[in-house]
Amino acid sequence: MSIPTQNHIINGEFVSPSSGQYLDLIDPVMGQVIGKAAAGNSADVDRAVAAASEAFKSWKNTATSERANIIARMALVLGANMEELLGLEAKCTGLSVTRLQGFDIPAVMQFVQIFSENLESYPFVEYPPVRAVPEAHDVKIVKQPLGVCGLITAWNGPLFLAFLKMLPAIAAGNTVIIKPAETASLAVVRAMELIQDLLPPGVVNVVTGLGPDVGAALSSHPGIAKISFTGSGRTGAMIQKEAADTMKRVTLELGGKGPGVVLPDAPIELTARGATYGFLLGSGQICISGTRLFVHESIHDELVARMAELAGKMKAGSQFDPATTLGPMAYRAHYERVLGYIESGKAEGAQVACGGGPLSVEEFPDSMFVQPTIFTDVTPDMKIYNEEIFGPVLSVIKYSDVEDAIDMANDSCYGLSAGVWTGDPIAAQSVSHRLEAGTVWVNDWHAISGDMSFGGIKQSGYGREINIASMEGYLETKNYVTSFETDPNAKAMYGLVHR
Ligand code: NAD
Repeated sequence: MSIPTQNHIINGEFVSPSSGQYLDLIDPVMGQVIGKAAAGNSADVDRAVAAASEAFKSWKNTATSERANIIARMALVLGANMEELLGLEAKCTGLSVTRLQGFDIPAVMQFVQIFSENLESYPFVEYPPVRAVPEAHDVKIVKQPLGVCGLITAWNGPLFLAFLKMLPAIAAGNTVIIKPAETASLAVVRAMELIQDLLPPGVVNVVTGLGPDVGAALSSHPGIAKISFTGSGRTGAMIQKEAADTMKRVTLELGGKGPGVVLPDAPIELTARGATYGFLLGSGQICISGTRLFVHESIHDELVARMAELAGKMKAGSQFDPATTLGPMAYRAHYERVLGYIESGKAEGAQVACGGGPLSVEEFPDSMFVQPTIFTDVTPDMKIYNEEIFGPVLSVIKYSDVEDAIDMANDSCYGLSAGVWTGDPIAAQSVSHRLEAGTVWVNDWHAISGDMSFGGIKQSGYGREINIASMEGYLETKNYVTSFETDPNAKAMYGLVHR
């Protein structure tokens, strides 16, 4: 089997890493090397910034209709090569083709549609009514692109995340350097290669490599105006520091510890299925996963038993098998980290309702599957209650008073996702209103639309993505104020102008 070796994409061309080094990309189901990615460094970043800065000079002045056309044509190129992209994404992330076909790929296509269809009507220029300016003036407010944007992403949906950031950035007239996660760049590099022919060179660049080498170089680079980051809170905090000296604009999409509150009247079967989906989609490797479930004591045992039954039916296997419903952890260090959390839950006294360890699949001896695990009797002092595990692990907490459940749900440094399960629409409204999160579901989880403005509060980050309004994060506001006062002495009344 030939193993693809991917170089950086800079100024419309493949560029080998100045280090001469490549990183192995590993299929987490087979445990085998399936590709090599250029190990970038700050010299590669300098080169990409020079190309993106040059391209920005003309790209910022292209008509919005032209940018919209280019984006629209991406749909054709991506559509024609979808099978290949799907295969690469599945291989290097372990995400099942079913999930990719059902979520990630349609989402990418929806983003393309959103930014191509709405770009021309976006209010890049506004003429507000002028108040409180003492003389006669015209005021024009113009939204301008920022410059070169560094887009640093996580491994749990590499293609999805790259398009989520790249499209609003270039639609707004910026040029970009994408730095995908080091373990999962295959499909991103290939997709960006495919769209190069549509774009002037240097508008979309990709530099692969390790976070401390490439990500840090981007975050601190004086030629970069903005960093948009998706990843862990720990790295997000580092990026804020790296970006501080050059006063970059920063958007952070970080982690979560999604709480669900199950009221006593919640329909058991709907809740069991929905909350199981909430913590197991993507094997829990999703920032918005529902990982803490507060269940009223009257239905606690019944709900947990049903969820354990459903979780036990998950089928681990090849990402290419349509029967597979449970994927692996994305890479070995993460796999071990998740197992470490499960051990800590046991050691701290939580009860295992199902799962509780690694999941071996005979056919794939080097794979990294983890059993869907539900802990009960979890208390707020435990690590598994407080920290983002990013694996198929749920903490269930029994409550008797809904006020306590809401307080506990909000007692977290995170605020990305939350949910309420109930048959009562009034209670749904009241509880969801009080849950502190960027997105709150009622009787559902993970449902996201391209028209939503997605992001977190508290330590889940700041800035919003997905819909057309996310272009705000890639624009600066400039005022043009034009006087049509003709009297040369008009300013004298303020004593500011010499007569
Ligand atoms: P991570 O923070 O380890 O890595 C993310 C990216 O940052 C990678 O590309 C990495 O190379 C880079 N990086 C590492 N060190 C850096 C540095 N010093 N400077 C700049 N960049 C650096 O995160 P991960 O493990 O890839 O992803 C999992 C995390 O992402 C979870 O916490 C998850 O909740 C979060 N996530 C959030 C969202 C969201 O929209 N809020 C979506 C997906 C994932």
